[in-house]
Order: sequence, then structure tokens, then C-alpha cells
Amino acid sequence: PWITAPAAQRVMSMFSDAEEEAYFVGGCVRNSLLNVAVSDLDVSTPVRPDRVMDLAKAQGSKAIPTGLEHGTVTVVVEGEAFEITTFRKDVETDGRRAVVAFADTLEDDARRRDFTMNALYARADGSIIDPLGGLADLEARRVRFIDDPDQRIREDYLRILRFFRFHAWYGDDEAGLDAEGLAACAQNVEGLSNLSKERIGAEMMKFLSAPAPDRAIAAMDHAGVLNALLPGASTKAFFLLTSFEKAVDPVVRLAALGAFDVVALLRLSKAQTRQYDMLRSYSAGAQTIREIAYREGEKTAWDVAALRAAFFEQPLPASLSDDIARATNAQFPVSAQDLMPDLSGAALGAMLRELEQTWIESGFALSHEDLMQRVRPNGPV
Ligand code: ATP
Ligand code: MG
Repeated sequence: PWITAPAAQRVMSMFSDAEEEAYFVGGCVRNSLLNVAVSDLDVSTPVRPDRVMDLAKAQGSKAIPTGLEHGTVTVVVEGEAFEITTFRKDVETDGRRAVVAFADTLEDDARRRDFTMNALYARADGSIIDPLGGLADLEARRVRFIDDPDQRIREDYLRILRFFRFHAWYGDDEAGLDAEGLAACAQNVEGLSNLSKERIGAEMMKFLSAPAPDRAIAAMDHAGVLNALLPGASTKAFFLLTSFEKAVDPVVRLAALGAFDVVALLRLSKAQTRQYDMLRSYSAGAQTIREIAYREGEKTAWDVAALRAAFFEQPLPASLSDDIARATNAQFPVSAQDLMPDLSGAALGAMLRELEQTWIESGFALSHEDLMQRVRPNGPV
């Protein structure tokens, strides 16, 4: 467990040696209790950022003021980064994101968080502080807003998307989504237009990376949230896709939701945008899966096959694995050298591409001799 690891203990003793308080908080505590991998280590403390910087330096650790205006200092201990944030409380908001001020108590800090399961704190010895009943909700796998859901959503509309995200990851699908929270999300759909593409994009990718997002996305659809974020989105192919997929890929799932101008709606990485556009174009295109496997590799071929099957409501072809394996192992039996005596420059390139296409369309069956026949019908020069 990471909490007993030397780096985590050193961060905690940085505070206790100075007789100051500090706690692990948020996702790292929640995930530890669920026995799920922890992505980032957040620490919460009443100590103000400038003093956090001093304490870190006194201990010989690197301290980076990553978000001083939000009260966040990143401290690097034994190569691991800890985000140390001073207790805060909400003051006023514009719905784009919560505006916060420093606070003195852990209770204040807990109240400005979004869900009870995200407001759990841990001491250095691993003991838990649960100011808002998050443990019971976590045990019941219930994503519950802290205080009034409607009000909390109007402080920061991203919490709508986070509600579905955390249900998809940690919620109980049988019990369903918390009814009060869901109703508040549905009521505040219009507010989503206040959010930046960056925040929506990042949150959407985390949502779409969940192991079992079906129930959450169905609820998101019914609440009108899905179409507010991605106009024209449909969940029909999505459910089929999740039944076909070998591994979770948020971009493939996004492609299953429909055709969007992704760049206009979400800010994704360049690689993700490129992948989305490629998947959409191949899944609507006429290329065979064999050709896609040969040109783009096994994963893309599998993804396109799954998307096509989902869109056309068909099972995956029985021969899919074999087809893909054969295509990715196929070696084009003609080289530029083979054509050199006859052709050069652009003409050579064009002939090579044409032969390759013919060979692909033959199902990789044509041999070197078959193909050379097409260049020199009268045999070798
Ligand atoms: P992950 O495993 O994805 O990192 P996380 O719970 O750590 O999950 P983060 O987005 O990293 O989620 O946020 C860290 C913590 O900060 C949350 O657990 C929550 O307590 C608080 N938080 C983050 N975003 C919001 C928000 N929009 N409104 C209120 N609290 C928030
Ligand atoms: Mg986190």
C-alpha cells in the first residue's frame, strides 16, 4: 500500500516534524479503500502554501508552486509527486468553476468537494477521517453530492459530468444512480454550455475510460446530458461496442457515440483527435478489415471491425482474428529494386503502390511472380 511507502511517509513527517497537520485526501483515499490503483496523491493541510514551500525545502525536497492561487504546491519526494493543497472553502462562483478561499478546518475543506466518497481523508497511519458520511456511501457504491445537488451543480457545472464519471467507475449499477443527484443533473443541463472544451474533454475521456460505463451513459442520455455535450449522440452502437471490445479505449467509445466535430466540442490531444477521425473514416469506408490491419495494425483493425459491427448491429465476423493475424503478418513480395530496370521516380512509386493494392485485394495471395507478370507480361528482361 502506497501510504506506508517511504515517500508518502516522508511527506507526512515533513508536516508532523513541524507540528503541523496534513492528510491524504480524495481519489487516493477512495481508491485505496476500494483496492483500486491510485493515480495521483493529493494532500490537504491547513498550512498556507508559502509555508508548505518552506517546509519542503527544509526537508530537502523539491517544491514547485504549481497553482499558488489555488493553494497548490507540488512536492517531489523520491521521484514521486504529491499535490499539497491548503484547506479551502467555497466563496462565490460563476458556474465555470468554483471560486475558493483558504480555510482553517478540515470540515470546511470537505464541504467544498463534490461527492461524499471524494471527501475522505487519511492520516499517516492510514486511519480514516470521514466528516460527511463518505465511507457509508463508498461501501454502498453510491455517488452522492455533498449538500444540495442543485446548488452544488450551479457552482460548477462540470460536477454533472463528474457525477456520471464516478458512477461509471465506482457506482452500483443495480442500485442505479442517486435519484436526487440525477434529477439535479437533468435540471441543469443548460449550464453545461458554460464549460470550457478543455474541462469537458478531460472529464469525458475519464468517463469513457470506465470499466463498465453502460448504465451511466444510459442515464446520461435520459437526463439530456449526453446530447447537450455531444449533439446528435446515440447510445445504440455504444452498448454493442462495449460488448465487443477487447480492451477499454475511450476514443473508440467516443467514435461509437456518433460523428462529431470533435475539435469544436472537446479539446482532446492531437493523437486522440487523429485517432477519432481515422476511426470514423474507416468505419464508414469501404476498405476491408484485412487492408486496415495490413496498413494500420491489429488494434485499429479490431476497433474498426467492432465499430462497424456495432453500427450495423451485427456480430463480429467469426474469421476476424484469423483475418487480422494473416494481414499483420503478410509481407509484400515486391520491392522497388524489382522494378528498377523498368521504372524510376514517381512512376516507380505509383506502380509499387498499385501492385501493393492489387496484392492486398487478392487477400495477400498473389506471389512475387504473379505480380511481376503485371509489370512485364513477357517475362524477365
Ligand atoms: P482520479 O482518480 O480521477 O484522480 P479524483 O477523485 O482524485 O479521481 P480529481 O479530479 O483528481 O479526482 O480531484 C481530486 C479531488 O478534488 C476530488 O476527489 C474532489 O474531492 C476534489 N474535486 C475535484 N474536482 C472538483 C470539482 N469540480 N468540484 C468539487 N470538488 C472537486
Ligand atoms: Mg485525482
